[in-house]
Amino acid sequence: MSEHRDVIIIGSGPAGLTAALYTARANLAPLLFEGFEAGGQLMLTTEVENYPGFADGILGPDLMAILKKQSERFGTEFISDDVSAVDFSSEPFKVTSGGTSYTARSAILSTGASAQWLGIESEKKFMGRGVSSCATCDGAFFKDRPLAVVGGGDSAMEEALFLTRFANKVTVIHRRDELRASKIMQDRALAHPKIDFRWNSVVTEVLGDTKVTGLKIDDVLTGATSKLEVGGLFVAIGHTPNTSLFEGVLELDPAGYVLTGADVDGAPAASAFATRTSIDGVFAAGDMVDHVYRQAVTAAGMGCMAAIDAERWLEQKGH
Ligand code: NAP
Repeated sequence: MSEHRDVIIIGSGPAGLTAALYTARANLAPLLFEGFEAGGQLMLTTEVENYPGFADGILGPDLMAILKKQSERFGTEFISDDVSAVDFSSEPFKVTSGGTSYTARSAILSTGASAQWLGIESEKKFMGRGVSSCATCDGAFFKDRPLAVVGGGDSAMEEALFLTRFANKVTVIHRRDELRASKIMQDRALAHPKIDFRWNSVVTEVLGDTKVTGLKIDDVLTGATSKLEVGGLFVAIGHTPNTSLFEGVLELDPAGYVLTGADVDGAPAASAFATRTSIDGVFAAGDMVDHVYRQAVTAAGMGCMAAIDAERWLEQKGH
């Protein structure tokens, strides 16, 4: 069985749903594959206070429900399955999901990224209730509390520095005695009076009842276990873009993020379509592209750009 569309959208975070809203309003009748983790990373957060338009804040899952409803209103159709394969080698493009294949003239990809987690049971238990992967999102909830950040890269330094605005103390817990972060970020964090470091240490348990009260930490050299009192744990050990489906299909950077616009090999410096990928007619937006800003509002903005690019591209092609 096969169904043909002007636009297929893969991914249902802020980028995908905004792309759906715009393409639906352009009468392109988009078909959106939500995937099993529908809604993306905002489904793992609690209060979102920095999405414009919600002066009193909104819960992450509620925001995603509103975005979905808004794009549905103009005729977006949803398929809740994951996409199992794509074939962009010739037009029309082919997308397979749940044993059914779909064809489309253009595709907008917005499969996002996933934060890496420590993988301990108690981390899951407190997710959104003291365990977070986003200081920008959740830091403000921990005014005058001691906090911990796990990781030794640029993200961890950035998170730790950002958290000093709220926390009375930030402890960076790193599994080695040497940071991976760039020198400038290291220097800033090492010199900050509110930041201290636990070297050669790993978190083995998040402690608390209904919310986080502390951490159990193992020294990997001595094997000694200690407790650290904290109100929150920020895990900053990297993100993985959800792009395995596109390996060998699209140009990706060494970390697996999709290259777009002028970054695509051979693209003109001022590429007409900022969200174009290495395949004509395939556009990408959100955290699968962007490892710098990673905000819901920037993802939504890129989703809007991808929709406008796809619409103009279809028009140029005479569709
Ligand atoms: P990253 O550079 O890969 O660093 C990840 C850190 O987490 C490493 O220190 C690593 O330890 C640690 N880690 C990994 N798995 C762990 C585990 N299971 N348990 C404990 N620790 C673990 O990732 P990132 O910091 O997210 O940065 C990603 C990229 O974005 C980098 O290229 C970075 O330069 C860039 N970035 C730049 C900026 C900026 O310039 N302002 C800000 C953020 C990110 P090891 O060191 O022992 O491997």
